[in-house]
Amino acid sequence: MNNTKIALVNPPGTYEYIRDYYTSLIAKANYHYPPIDFVWLSASLEGPVKVFDAIAEGLSPEKLLDEAAEFAPTHIFCLVSGLSLEEDLALIKKMKERTNAVIIAMGDICRVAPGIIFSKSPHIDAVLRSFACTDIMGILRNGRPAGQYPPEWVFRSGAESACGELKKESGNIRIGVPKWEIFRLKAYKFPFALNAPVGTILTDYGCPFKCSYCSIGTLGWRVRESDEVIDEIDLLYGLGAREIHFRDQTFGVDKERTMLIMDHLKKKRLTWSCFTRMDIVSEKLLAAMKESGCHTVIFGIESGDYELRHKYGKGIKDDIVIRTLKLCSGMNISTVGTFIIGLPGEGEKEVMKTIEFARTLPLDYASFNIAVPRMGSALRSPDGEGLRTKEDPDIGYNSDAMGFMPREKAIKLASLATRRFYVRPSYIMNRLSKIRSLSVLINEFKIGHNLLFGAYSYKKKS
Ligand code: SF4
Repeated sequence: MNNTKIALVNPPGTYEYIRDYYTSLIAKANYHYPPIDFVWLSASLEGPVKVFDAIAEGLSPEKLLDEAAEFAPTHIFCLVSGLSLEEDLALIKKMKERTNAVIIAMGDICRVAPGIIFSKSPHIDAVLRSFACTDIMGILRNGRPAGQYPPEWVFRSGAESACGELKKESGNIRIGVPKWEIFRLKAYKFPFALNAPVGTILTDYGCPFKCSYCSIGTLGWRVRESDEVIDEIDLLYGLGAREIHFRDQTFGVDKERTMLIMDHLKKKRLTWSCFTRMDIVSEKLLAAMKESGCHTVIFGIESGDYELRHKYGKGIKDDIVIRTLKLCSGMNISTVGTFIIGLPGEGEKEVMKTIEFARTLPLDYASFNIAVPRMGSALRSPDGEGLRTKEDPDIGYNSDAMGFMPREKAIKLASLATRRFYVRPSYIMNRLSKIRSLSVLINEFKIGHNLLFGAYSYKKKS
């Protein structure tokens, strides 16, 4: 089939779902990233390709179906998440009826349990278990002889449907330059951005670390070469982006490559932000980051209890946490600390320790997240199967049964943590002293409002 026409669909939902990078969650503040799965996929797609991001664009199911039918795709890559599975499958049924396209599902549950996807929906033709793959067009157009499909692909029928094991790979990876022109940059929102529009770049795949509550460390770690990343920066700049948010889960592990990328950001005078770990950023690296336009760094601190951090694979000592935050503060780099509430073994006493620890830190923002058994993570799947058992029918968050803190209690404590962190005269005065313009003040107000009143309410979309 040479006349392919490809739709990339992020379905609408009852909630503001974030389906991205093998994770599903409900947005708790006003942010939406372009799904990185589609960004990487776009690099190797050819022919007419259109993105239908119903979450970012606020498209209703009816509007999405009308627009997709009008586009008349031959193939639809559709994000499907464990959190919104029933809704996603209902939409897929309608998309199949309206377009008769080949439907390829992607996302967290697709990666770990393609069998469940096929058993629950007769309308899905294939599952793509990894977005870090190339030669997608060759497979769409010509298929492969039975038994020669890469393990990322699983088909509903035929000999090629055998679901091979996904290898954890390491080393370099070349994906090409994503087709950023098919994404509407202005549809996406970033709470900490200083400039807009924002482009998002993933310079590596996976993570070299292995925290047991996280699925990203189970992917292996593959790194894009700096020339390809620089080409992507140039493309985004040409499309109007004035800020970059790096989606790497641990930015800057490979120092030499990071320096080349940062030199280019500096030349382009782009501002940027990233996620990274405190044990890989030295004073020298932070200074170079600041010089090249970095204004905000997000660090996973997770707990105020070192023993718990250590137990779950992030054994960063308190003195490194404090030293790194002080360095950032001294360089005028804003910091966001993310914490997890309710991991197995964590009771109210440990959560209170986390809250008190967060309050002592020179953080600009703190985000308290409810612990969930992420699909693919070691905590969800000590046997490595991805779900608790091979055919676990519980594809939602039955976290209590897995030893996590009961969800209602974790939500209450996370709300308490948020209030105790933000509603402090010293914190408020400190934030106000840093505000230099009306737009920053408005942004701060929005962030504060979302964190205090919207973070754990998970209101349905009207
Ligand atoms: S939590 Fe961060 S550092 Fe740990 S494995 Fe996941 S991505 Fe890597």
